Amino acid sequence: MTSTGTATPTGRTLRIAHLYPELLNLYGDSGNILVLRRRLEWRGLGCEVVECHVDDRPSFSDVDIVFIGGGSDREQKIVCDKLLAEQDELRAYVEDGGVLGAVCGGYQLLGHSYLMGDEEVRGLSLVDLYTDRGSPRLIGNIAVESRISPQPIVGYENHGGRTHLGPGVEPMGRVLYGHGNDGVTGEEGCLYKNVVGTYVHGPLLPKNPGVADYLISRALERRYGDGTLAPLDDEAELAANKVMFDRLMSGEVKEG
Ligand code: GLN
Repeated sequence: MTSTGTATPTGRTLRIAHLYPELLNLYGDSGNILVLRRRLEWRGLGCEVVECHVDDRPSFSDVDIVFIGGGSDREQKIVCDKLLAEQDELRAYVEDGGVLGAVCGGYQLLGHSYLMGDEEVRGLSLVDLYTDRGSPRLIGNIAVESRISPQPIVGYENHGGRTHLGPGVEPMGRVLYGHGNDGVTGEEGCLYKNVVGTYVHGPLLPKNPGVADYLISRALERRYGDGTLAPLDDEAELAANKVMFDRLMSGEVKEG
């Protein structure tokens, strides 16, 4: 495990566990960690990032945010076997309200199973969902309306998996453009306790500061009993979000 931290004038710090960055980093998913760190630092809050590599046995008892990125089937398979060793710890963390963000391959691994070719790979069963496969792959830009973000969430998706949510699991949001969980229901991602799972790469957080602040606020609330966040100047982030959303919704972007 490698750990990097920053001192803080407020005395409040969040610890982020970034799982398997060397394997799960499709479409810049590791950029999400930079965004979390900067948004904490800009508010005078500390941030410690612990990178967990495949043979580490991390403890989640003092962690505030767990992040898992996406990966190809090959990488997912390697990670899955390792992750199952952490299943009990991760389940306890999630049930205790621990914040967890997971993208695409990482999102699929939160469920009971993931169908990889003909092989059904066991998932972590942290959230009541499962993923099978469909054809063609669901590829392209995506925009999602979600209660966790004041702006539509924009990004990019590329997955063969089709994710199906159990009856008690809320989707992260509704697809406005693109495919989402299965290309059929109009649902995208999942919300369960303080878990956010989504197919949105891009990376997710730079153009979607509302999602970043949702994760940070939930983690501060859990750790310090107060999730109130000082506002930041998000002019650049919101302009990037809006230009992409407007391009998608106007039909200007031709997919494929
Ligand atoms: N391997 C998975 C799929 O194709 C996830 C890919 C990804 O993380 N983009 O469904």
